[in-house]
This record gives sequence, C-alpha cells and structure tokens, in this order.
Amino acid sequence: MVDVSRHDVVIVGGGGAGLRAAIAASELNPEISIALVSKVYPMRSHTVSAEGGAAAIARDDDSLEMHGYDTVKGSDFLGDQDVIQYFVEQAPKELTRLEHWGCPWSRNEDGSVATRAFGGMSTKRTWYATDKVGFHMLHTLFQTSMKFGNVDRYDEHFVTKLLVDGGVCRGVAALDIRTGEMKAILGKAVILTTGGGGKVWPFTTNGNIKTGDGMSLAYREGVPLKDMEFVQYHPTGLPGTGILITEATRGEGGYLLNNEGERFLVTRDYGVGNKAELGPRDMISRAITQEIAAGRGVEIPGKPGRYAHLDLRHIGEEKIMARLPFVRELSKAYANVDPVHEPIPIRPVLHYMMGGVDTDIEARTSLDGLYAAGEVACVSLNGANRLGSNSLTECLVFGARAGEHATEYIKGASVGEEGPFVQQAEAEAARIDAFRGRQRGGEKIAKVREDMNTAMEDGTGVYREQASMAKAVKDIAELRQRFEQVSLDDSSKIFNTELIAGLELGNMLDVAEAVTWAAVQRKESRGAHACSDYPTRNDTEYLHHSLVYHSPEGPRFDKKEVTLGVWEPEERKY
Ligand SMILES: Cc1cc2nc3c(=O)[nH]c(=O)nc-3n(C[C@H](O)[C@H](O)[C@H](O)COP(=O)(O)OP(=O)(O)OC[C@H]3O[C@@H](n4cnc5c(N)ncnc54)[C@H](O)[C@@H]3O)c2cc1C
Repeated sequence: MVDVSRHDVVIVGGGGAGLRAAIAASELNPEISIALVSKVYPMRSHTVSAEGGAAAIARDDDSLEMHGYDTVKGSDFLGDQDVIQYFVEQAPKELTRLEHWGCPWSRNEDGSVATRAFGGMSTKRTWYATDKVGFHMLHTLFQTSMKFGNVDRYDEHFVTKLLVDGGVCRGVAALDIRTGEMKAILGKAVILTTGGGGKVWPFTTNGNIKTGDGMSLAYREGVPLKDMEFVQYHPTGLPGTGILITEATRGEGGYLLNNEGERFLVTRDYGVGNKAELGPRDMISRAITQEIAAGRGVEIPGKPGRYAHLDLRHIGEEKIMARLPFVRELSKAYANVDPVHEPIPIRPVLHYMMGGVDTDIEARTSLDGLYAAGEVACVSLNGANRLGSNSLTECLVFGARAGEHATEYIKGASVGEEGPFVQQAEAEAARIDAFRGRQRGGEKIAKVREDMNTAMEDGTGVYREQASMAKAVKDIAELRQRFEQVSLDDSSKIFNTELIAGLELGNMLDVAEAVTWAAVQRKESRGAHACSDYPTRNDTEYLHHSLVYHSPEGPRFDKKEVTLGVWEPEERKY
C-alpha cells in the first residue's frame, strides 16, 4: 500500500518557476493546501546557478514595444506575440515585486536599479545582483514561500508518474528518495516546473539534475512537446567542464578573439552588424564554430578541440571585481586563468531548451488539471532562439500565472473518486520495484547515457544536416531498445542514486526522441536550428510550431499555428 496525501495544488519543482507558482497560489487563496515536490532541496535547483540577470524595462530610453520587438526578432518570428506582449508588461512588475521581497538588485549611483546590456537587446535592460543573480532570486523566492503556512514540502522526492484517469490529472506518484517508498500525492491540479533537459547533451552548462523529467512525464500522458528542435548553444562555456561564463561579460564590454587576436565579430560578416559581441546567442555560437572550422581556433595545451578567447582585460580589475567577481572565481578555479590578466578560453556549450511541454498563455496544457511553467514549458515566448535574461523573468511571469490560474481552476474541481489514482500509484510502485530489481542484463546506465550524448551531439549540434539528424533519430530508437536491457548493481531502497540515474535516463531518452523527431522535420534554418542543407528561413512552409506526440507505435508529428501580431516576419538582420 502506498502512502496517500491530499492537497489542493501539487507543484512539481522547487526552482524559480515552482516557488513563484507556490507564492502566487498562496497569495490568491491562503486557505488552500499546496504540495511542493522536488527531487532536490529547493535551493539546489538549477535556477541558483544563473549568473547574468533578468530582463525587464527599467530605463527612460526603453519601452515595452522595444522589449517586445527584440524578443520577437530574437525568436526569429516563432514566438507567439500575445505571449510576448503579456510577458514584457508583467516583467517590470515581477522584478519590482522580487525587490520588495528582499532581492538585492545592484544599483546605479543615484540609487535606481542598475541594468546591463545583454545579447540581442537594444538597450540595457537586464537587472542583476552582481553575477550571482539566480542565487539571490532563488533565496528571495524560497524565503518568501516559507512565510505561508500552507506549503507542504516534499524535498528529495522524485516524481515518476502523473496520476491521470478519465482525461484529468489529479496528482503524482513520487518516490521518497530517502526511504525508497512510493507515495501518491493527490491534488485537484498539478503544475510542472521541473526545468530543462540539458544533460541529454554531453557538453552543457546544465547541472546534473537537468534531465527533462517533466517533459517526459507530460509526453507519456499524451501531452505534446512543442518546438523541441530549438536548443540553445551559449557562446561561452569553459573547456572540459562546460561551466558557463555569463553573457554579462560581453554586456560589460568583453571581446571575442580568434587565434590571431582578431575581434572577428567586428572584422567579419556574421550578420550581427554593429552589435558585435552583443549579437544574439545563436549567431554568436555559429560565428565561433565557423572561426574554429576555418582554422582560427585557439589551442589549449592538454585539452582536445579548439576554442575562442573571451578577453576582459581592458575592463580592468576594479570593474571586474564589482560586476563580475564570480566570473573571475570560476575562470581561476576551472580554467586556470585570471581574466584580469589573461583571456579566457571558451567554446559554444549546450545551455537551454526553447521547446518543452506545450501550454497556452495561461500555462495550461491540453490535459485537464495539468499546468506547466518555466523551462519545462513551451508557452512560446522564446520561439526559435531565446534572448539571454528573458528566462529568469519567464519563470516569474508564467510561474505566477500558472499558480493563479490553477487556484481558480480548483474551485470547480474535485479529486472525485480517489481509487483509480491510488491504484495507479500502486502500479507505479510495483514498476519501480521491478526496475530496481533488474540485476541481470547486458546494458549499463552510464554506457547508454554516453551513447545518447554522442548521438545528440553529432545530430543536433550548433549546425545540423539532414543526414546526421536522420541518423540521430535511428540511434535514439536503438538506444531505447538498449535501455530495456539496462540492469542495476544496487538493489537497495535507501538513497539509491543508481535507480534515480536509471529513471532519469529513461526520461532523457524521451526528450532526445522528441528533439530529433522535431529537428528532422524542419527543413529550413531558423534561430538555433541551423540546417546546413537548408540554410535559409522558409516562412511559406515552416512558420509554424512543431508538436511531437508520444505513442506506443512511435512518435507522431503535428504542427501548430504561430500567433502573429503587430510585427510582421521580416529578414532577421542586426
Ligand atoms: C549556468 C546557468 C546560468 C543561467 N543564467 C541565466 C541568466 O543569467 N538569466 C536567465 O534569464 N537565465 C539563465 N539561465 C537559464 C535559467 O536559469 C533557467 O532556465 C531557469 O532557472 C529554470 O528555472 P525552472 O524553475 O524552470 O527550473 P529549475 O530551476 O531547473 O528547477 C527545476 C526543479 O524541478 C525539480 N524536479 C525536476 N525533476 C523532478 C522530478 N522528477 N521530481 C521532482 N522534482 C523534480 C528539481 O528538483 C528543481 O527543484 C541559466 C541557466 C544555467 C544552466
């Protein structure tokens, strides 16, 4: 028998989006009971590692229209313009609210909120707290969530299944990692805020916990994943580890150099115009990749591959210590260079997923009772390419919207007959027990994961080709077969990290399947999807979102219209 607990709203995820949803729901109705389920202690969510900042207009030379247009253009016209409109309006309100809750935004001399430049933004609109923005934001949200007495936390609980019966979602099955016991956590609405899945690729800025679990949970229940082919490569990751060096380095004036010491974004035509290093991420990542391919990459003794140099020396020690202290710390510890005196070797690194669980502007999915917000979701703010610093703000704006809408929704909803949901959790407990007990079989989790990483890097890198994408589709299908043969060395129940790694691998294979399927269908180049065989954007045939549905026979592909508005699609030039 599984342990059963009952709440009104169940939130899966304790990062920026999940905590913001919990606060919004609590503020709207302090009487409701909220479960906050997270596979790690909330402060360890990936949001904590964000460095650069969160976007919202703050200056006299800025406007909602400018933020809207920059975002639409950055998305290569695949962002939904009603969503973008709503987002830019809410953004300054959300960041100000965060300040009232205690977030220590950096200030200008006159006391106003300081903003920095970010790629693809036409003026300084990225709010920051030195270069530890995620840490301060998450702390603020976490401590604010604690002042409500109605949030019950389930820390270190791994959700393995959504409980769905008769077309409605009414809770989750969660494995208590400390005991190995399964629980049924019931509610009238469920909000997924489980973040992205960067660990599907080998070289990533993403923490180990970013395995796309929520995308898989929704996909398995028939909810489509949208725009999965669009994954963002951040231009500046450190060699070996992939640790992020924030775009704020370029916002503060950093240069990118090739092995001849040339500022190639200024001297060569990479489409970024006079934005130079502050072009959007997709274009800068392609420029670096091309410089390396042309033989102008920087070599680093003892490290494979080639790099570019990120040069901050001209910024000076004083400003680096005031604005980018963490960048200095990371560069010294992980690349053995002090950016005050030497350039930092970097290369493009997998950073963010524009795609995710398909939602509408209310953060609702197609499954009754299920919501999604934050990086796990695709509300269609980011389209084919996200602008840096829009995503932390997205977590706030749409986390809040999900929390509010779910609180309204449950007024008319009941869990109804509990039996079927509890039975599902029991069946899930049996499935997990069987998986843990699989002590025989040829395949190792680490090996299947490594092969998946390789297939994804080869098939869905900065540049893609039809042939390599088609091969990745085939490879992932084979890896799914091999996953069925995976066995575990550890059959114990308490803190079985091998079991968790196995469950996460299953989730990542779902994500990989959706990414490769969506990628191979899009025979054009748009935003982060740079297809060498089809180098131009093709609005006649491909100005649509892509949807991938799970089915036992294999994935099914569909399309969804893009919501246009005041900004007509035009050539994307800077
Ligand atoms: C290094 C780095 C720097 C970044 N810097 C910036 C920046 O400066 N500006 C910006 O706008 N964006 C930045 N981003 C992107 C941004 O930080 C993320 O997109 C955002 O924080 C995601 O927040 P989230 O709430 O959606 O998910 P996360 O913060 O990833 O939280 C996910 C939560 O879900 C829980 N969870 C996941 N799976 C399960 C499961 N199966 N069961 C139970 N719980 C589960 C986890 O425990 C966690 O609590 C950065 C990203 C990285 C990796």
